[in-house]
Amino acid sequence: MQPADLSAIDIVTAIRQGDLTALQCTEAFLNRIEQLNGSINAFLNIDRDGAMATATAIDARRRAGQPLGPLAGLPVAVKDALCTADLPTTCASKMLALFQPPYDAHVVSRLRQADAVIVGKTNMDEFAMGGSNENSAFGPVHNPWDLSRAPGGSSGGSAACVAADMAPVAIGSDTGGSIRQPAGLCGITGLKPTYGRVSRRGLIAFASSLDQVGPMARSAADCALLLETIAGHDPGDSTSLAVDVPRYTELLEQPLTGVRIGRVPEHFAAGLDPEVAKGVEEAFAVFKAAGATVHDIQMPHAKYGVPTYYLVAPCEASSNLARYDGVHYGHRCAEQSQRTGTKTSGSELPLVEMYCRSRGEGFGPEVKRRIMLGTYALSSGYYDAYYAKALKVRRLIRQDYLDAFQKVDLIGGPVSATAAFTLGEKTGDPLAMYLVDLYTVCTNLAGVGGISFPCGFTKSGLPIGFQLQSPALAEPLLLRASDRFQRLTDWHRRRPSLPASATSLPVARAPH
Ligand code: GLN
Repeated sequence: MQPADLSAIDIVTAIRQGDLTALQCTEAFLNRIEQLNGSINAFLNIDRDGAMATATAIDARRRAGQPLGPLAGLPVAVKDALCTADLPTTCASKMLALFQPPYDAHVVSRLRQADAVIVGKTNMDEFAMGGSNENSAFGPVHNPWDLSRAPGGSSGGSAACVAADMAPVAIGSDTGGSIRQPAGLCGITGLKPTYGRVSRRGLIAFASSLDQVGPMARSAADCALLLETIAGHDPGDSTSLAVDVPRYTELLEQPLTGVRIGRVPEHFAAGLDPEVAKGVEEAFAVFKAAGATVHDIQMPHAKYGVPTYYLVAPCEASSNLARYDGVHYGHRCAEQSQRTGTKTSGSELPLVEMYCRSRGEGFGPEVKRRIMLGTYALSSGYYDAYYAKALKVRRLIRQDYLDAFQKVDLIGGPVSATAAFTLGEKTGDPLAMYLVDLYTVCTNLAGVGGISFPCGFTKSGLPIGFQLQSPALAEPLLLRASDRFQRLTDWHRRRPSLPASATSLPVARAPH
């Protein structure tokens, strides 16, 4: 049996029952990573030794009859925006190329406490700014469905590694679509939880009022399993919600009878690829067949989502990224560090020049563009015209959701206007790249939940993503509806044609 044939739920069950050891499982996925990473570039750091040691310890504890955590032996890939005390954390930036965090992100601690096995850190757009993974300082990720195409971003490495069966599950982060859009373009399932559902402590900040960590997996059921572990209050993040975490995996059974799903007619306006539109409409039909009802609704301010997001996010980023000055954090330009310690102060760079050169060398072009956009919009004289106004529009967008959720339980639609685009296609046109985020940014501006999963394929064999959005903290319904869809369809079971795994898993269980 190949790693791809087992869901995360199957893997933890097989290990718990002794049908598979954590070491066998971890080694199978590590071999797959090493086999494919040269062509996909999904991982920036592969922790073979650490993962094998963790798996060996889990097997020993199991043999000794000691209790094991709920994810015991499950290989997990973690986006390189989350701090890991035992592995470098670069955020795909030269600025942090040598950064070794002194602590684990809250989500990473939760994974370790649950006895998951962290196999490595995944590639991403630098500081999570981008929608194609081409802004990584360490090279783009290639979409497993077509290596000449982008996997989406910014969690492109996490999406691609799950799509290519290099890991059964991964952790991503989503500020304006970075879990849902790459999940859609890579044919996997990705959930952006409600703002505050998952702690952001140890997530390298991009835009703190929008950032949220979430699970990426082959199915909604596996996302539910992961969310159960990573969600919950953390006193170390004052914005994390002190609300009990439901047993998401146990709340999937109830049928969708009577669930009302909103459909926004403007989502189907010009710009939406006809093949994507067809896949999305067919998904609505599946939901209807499952007992849900579909209602056209209005989101009058959604059209301002992209301009609002591209003010709020860069403003917050320009403030968050001020810490990378070559002194407190990050890359320091070469001349200064060579000369530090010499007595001839005249040979040292002036402080401001040292800051400028360190930041100039450490940040890539898109990060610089965001810092400049944000600094401009926050500056005296422009603040009211741009940032303050964007906050008012944000409030209106949030109100659209509150009004819509009076009438419907969920909102469905496309996650991206097209299937995966070719690498290089949009890199020369930042505005074209920003428009990729059309359907995803409002979820973050409103702080509500969203999930995406495959709902079909284009004629050329690329996955089409469907997005569902829910009111705050309605993840049980979001996951239940997505799981129901996946019980009725098999789009999420399709695999890209990549070389077969060199190693198979020595278990013989029915696939989930
Ligand atoms: N593509 C969006 C951007 O470039 C969203 C990124 C994200 O969610 N981290 O900002």
